[in-house]
Amino acid sequence: MSLPQFKLLRPQGVSQALEYLVKYSAPDLPVQRSRGPDSRGRVSLHGSGASTQNPHLRVVAGGTDLIPSMKQKLFEPEYVLDLHAIRELRGIRPLSDGAVEIGALTTLREIERSDVLRRHYPVLTEAAATVASPVLRNMGTIGGNICLDTRCLWYNQSLTWRKGCGFCIKKDGDLCHVAPGGTKCWAAFSGDTPPALLCLDAELELASATGTRRVALRDFYTGLGDNYRNLQPNELLTGVFLPASSAGFTGVYRKLRVRGSIDYPLAGVAVAMKSTNSHIADARIGITAVNPAPLLVAGVSELLTGKIIDDSLAEAAGNMAARISKPLTTSALTPEYRREMIRVFTKRAVLAAAQARQN
Ligand SMILES: Cc1cc2nc3c(=O)[nH]c(=O)nc-3n(C[C@H](O)[C@H](O)[C@H](O)COP(=O)(O)OP(=O)(O)OC[C@H]3O[C@@H](n4cnc5c(N)ncnc54)[C@H](O)[C@@H]3O)c2cc1C
Ligand code: SF4
Repeated sequence: MSLPQFKLLRPQGVSQALEYLVKYSAPDLPVQRSRGPDSRGRVSLHGSGASTQNPHLRVVAGGTDLIPSMKQKLFEPEYVLDLHAIRELRGIRPLSDGAVEIGALTTLREIERSDVLRRHYPVLTEAAATVASPVLRNMGTIGGNICLDTRCLWYNQSLTWRKGCGFCIKKDGDLCHVAPGGTKCWAAFSGDTPPALLCLDAELELASATGTRRVALRDFYTGLGDNYRNLQPNELLTGVFLPASSAGFTGVYRKLRVRGSIDYPLAGVAVAMKSTNSHIADARIGITAVNPAPLLVAGVSELLTGKIIDDSLAEAAGNMAARISKPLTTSALTPEYRREMIRVFTKRAVLAAAQARQN
């Protein structure tokens, strides 16, 4: 599969990147979702669902997700904005108030190997270490992992394959093969670090030519499989902030995947816990790959705070996580199995985090 033709833009700094975003984006955004193929079997851009995606320009960081997707003709932008040369977006910086800032272009390998993150935010280093393979983690960035496109068996395929199936809502069509008759896309968000970052109350810095804004990670995802993130076409993700109040939580990440050495999660669970004496002082659980957005499990802190973790408490946490998991047939494994594995992994991760707390 070959890459479609595009013009490469290589800004040397954030301000130049933001200028390019304005200059090379179409003026009439947001664009509308497509409503079926034209005579070439491709689409016209009209229809009912508004999108914040920019069809004219795509941002590339490590390229480990975008480039394969472009080969599959999921994106055929006129321009690709390559962030690689922007040094100011790299690095892990402890701040004076005890928080930590991570530049959006910091690689997953740097995160996995960071002493400061392993010491204070171990759930993040553990999740980062499970992404793909070492080679991909050398290129893949935290920003790319957070902005990762949602995935579905019917979507992550070649143009020929998708055309043979009549396309679908997420790209070029108007039906969903997973939930026929529906108008919503259920493609699953499948990044490993966002559930860990949710447990850490992470915030994102989004920059545009008109200024920067901070958003809580939990508000970044829309819950839709197609327009899955709240990122405007003129915005870049520039940094991730971990608050001082989330430092010192023990952390465990567990994931289900087909090939243990390289695959995206088909179910993933992050657990972070803080304790005083032998009792839990606070606890958080995040899940991924079983909904169109990564989610924090509500009520976990109330369930576990003040308690000593045992089998039945861990089981109850597992049941809570399974209850909000809504996997559909977006992958090769059955929804029932993925949901059950959320329950099992949550229970195991809670027990492992409690054990780690005692060591
Ligand atoms: C074989 C294989 C296995 C994989 N397994 C996993 C896995 O187990 N877990 C996992 O989480 N991922 C996996 N991935 C996906 C990918 O490697 C990682 O998610 C990686 O972190 C993506 O980062 P990147 O910098 O390469 O992103 P890119 O591919 O460069 O970009 C991904 C998306 O984010 C957008 N983007 C990137 N940076 C920014 C920014 N700063 N501002 C705005 N938008 C931005 C891009 O436009 C694009 O839409 C796998 C990929 C492959 C090919
Ligand atoms: S869930 Fe899958 S088949 Fe349905 S619209 Fe989304 S990508 Fe297409």
